[in-house]
Amino acid sequence: MTTILDGKQTANDLMVTLKAEVAQLIARGVTPGLAVVLVGDDPASAIYVRNKQRRAEKLGIRSVKHTLPADTDQATLLATIAALNADASIDGILVQLPLPPQIDEAAVIAAIAPDKDVDGFHAVNVGRLWTNTPGVVASTPLGIMALLDHYGIAVAGKHAVIVGRSNIVGRPMAGLLLNHDATVTITHSKTPDLFALTRQADLLVVATGQPEFITADAVKPGAVVIDVGMDRNAAGKLVGDVDFASVAPVAGAITPVPGGVGPMTIAALMMQTVTLAKRRLQ
Ligand code: NAP
Repeated sequence: MTTILDGKQTANDLMVTLKAEVAQLIARGVTPGLAVVLVGDDPASAIYVRNKQRRAEKLGIRSVKHTLPADTDQATLLATIAALNADASIDGILVQLPLPPQIDEAAVIAAIAPDKDVDGFHAVNVGRLWTNTPGVVASTPLGIMALLDHYGIAVAGKHAVIVGRSNIVGRPMAGLLLNHDATVTITHSKTPDLFALTRQADLLVVATGQPEFITADAVKPGAVVIDVGMDRNAAGKLVGDVDFASVAPVAGAITPVPGGVGPMTIAALMMQTVTLAKRRLQ
């Protein structure tokens, strides 16, 4: 029987614990603060920001939104970040990506104080991940680790194959899995004979942005399949990077889309915000 890895339910369970932690922090005089910076009026970004803010507020986290016009220049955005870096009531700063073309995304990420970099994209935090030292880790891979943990799926000694090498999913996923003693293969669009590798995976993490790219013949029977994708198919329906209908009967466990990795990403973001806020007590 295939296990459906229910990210929605798992995230809700985590929220109960987190809400209690936030209440304890508030009782000790620390209200966790999350600043979200949105530049421009991209509708998808606006929805992501709204979801993150709603979730934060439900937990008792103070969420502050800075909305800047699409023609904002780099200096103005950097000044906003500098003010948030200096604000002791803010524990986490999140700049919603993508940014408009006149803005240098790398410079913006570099400007966020590493210890407030709640997305874990700053080079200091990436370095901490790859040296296996404590730091902030990107929310999507962290949420996936929390989901695996919730279902008691150990990764040590497993062969994990990751499809995709983005800075927000594939690379940090590889770092986390390696730190948890998996044997990791990272694949991408230039990988020859990709499916020969995916078929060797005990744990297959797919983050390509290609709708229903992985079908049953690319999966080892019994494998744990994590579908990060959030894509629209030709009919406009929300689907993952994995063809759920054909892969689910073959896999040992699989995440659905929606309701798998997506809710865990937001949960992980909240976990990181709370972790950062706890540092104020030290
Ligand atoms: P991305 O930056 O576009 O990276 C995609 C990666 O997939 C690249 O490394 C690319 O290889 C690789 N790739 C693309 N086509 C491929 C192919 N045919 N064969 C092998 N590799 C291929 O995307 P991303 O930001 O990582 O996002 C990936 C997907 O996850 C998207 O659907 C996105 O919406 C979704 N996502 C979901 C969440 C969530 O919370 N659920 C969070 C983040 C992203 P190259 O490097 O060689 O180009």
